[in-house]
Amino acid sequence: MADMRLIVVGAAGRMGKTLIRTIAGMEGVTVAGAVERAGSPEIGRDAGLLAGLEPLGVTVTDDPLPLFAAAEGVLDFTRPAATLEFAELAAQARIVHVIGTTGLSDADNDRIRAAARHAVVVKSGNMSLGVNLLALLVRQAARALDADFDIEVVEMHHRMKVDAPSGTALMLGEAAARGRGIDLGDHAVRSRDGHTGARRRGDIGFATLRGGTVIGEHAVVLAGEFERVELVHKAEDRSIFARGAVKAALWGRGRKPGLYSMADVLGLSD
Ligand code: NAP
Repeated sequence: MADMRLIVVGAAGRMGKTLIRTIAGMEGVTVAGAVERAGSPEIGRDAGLLAGLEPLGVTVTDDPLPLFAAAEGVLDFTRPAATLEFAELAAQARIVHVIGTTGLSDADNDRIRAAARHAVVVKSGNMSLGVNLLALLVRQAARALDADFDIEVVEMHHRMKVDAPSGTALMLGEAAARGRGIDLGDHAVRSRDGHTGARRRGDIGFATLRGGTVIGEHAVVLAGEFERVELVHKAEDRSIFARGAVKAALWGRGRKPGLYSMADVLGLSD
C-alpha cells in the first residue's frame, strides 16, 4: 500500500516539530503538508528544516484547504479553537483527524463528536502506550479498592503549558471514576485553596505542578488507612506521543467514521 499522506498542523510547535521528525523517520507514512497559523514567522520555511532535518520539499503554509483535499490524515496538537476549525475541514475532506490538543471544553467536544459523523477522529489526552496502559490499571485499582481509598491525581509539566489539570490527568481521573462506577463531573476536585474543609469521601482530587522543561509526569495515588498505592508514568521524550499519533492515523485509515480513543487503537478498550 502507498504511504499514508499526513498533514501536521501547528507544525512549528513543540509537538508539531516532533511529529515531522517522527513521520520522516517512519515507514508507511509521509509528510504531505505542514500548517501554521496566519502570521507565523515560519510560513514559507521548509518543514524538514523547521524540524531540524534535511529539507523535505514541504513548505509551511497558513492555507490548510488544498492540503486537506489531497491528504489522508491530519495530526493536530494545537489549541482548542484551531482544532475545531481543523475538525470541520477534516470532516469535509473525509480524512482521518488525530487530535492530541487538550483543554477542550464540553461544547468543543460536542462539535468534535458532530465532525466524527463524517470522518474518523481519534482523540486522546495522551497518545502514549504507557499512559493508556496506566489508565487501564487505574480503572482496575479503583474498582478493586473501595472508597476507603482516596484517589488523587498529581501531575507536573513544563512551564509553558497553558491548561490545567492536564488532559492526561483528566483522562486518569476519568479512568478512576469509571472503575468506581461514578461520574467524574460530580466528584472531581480540580484545585484546593484556603479552608476547604475535610476531604469528601469518594472525591477524586487533582494537583497541578508547573515548571522547567518536564515533558509530563503523572501519579495516581490511592490512599487508604495505613497504606498507599501509587501508579506512575513519566514521559521522557515527546516522540512517544508522536509515534502514538502516527499509529492512530494508520489505524484509522479506511475505518468507518466515528470518534475513537487511543485505547481503541491500542486494543486496550473493553
Ligand atoms: P505549542 O508548542 O504551543 O504548539 C502548538 C502550535 O500550534 C503552535 O506552533 C501554535 O502557533 C500552533 N497553532 C495555534 N493555532 C493554530 C492555527 N489556527 N493553525 C495552525 N497552527 C496553530 O504546544 P505543544 O506543547 O506542542 O502542545 C500542543 C497541544 O498538544 C497542547 O494542547 C498540549 O496539551 C497537547 N499535547 C497532547 C499530547 C497527547 O499525547 N495528547 C502530548 C503532548 C501535548 P502559535 O504558537 O504561533 O500560536
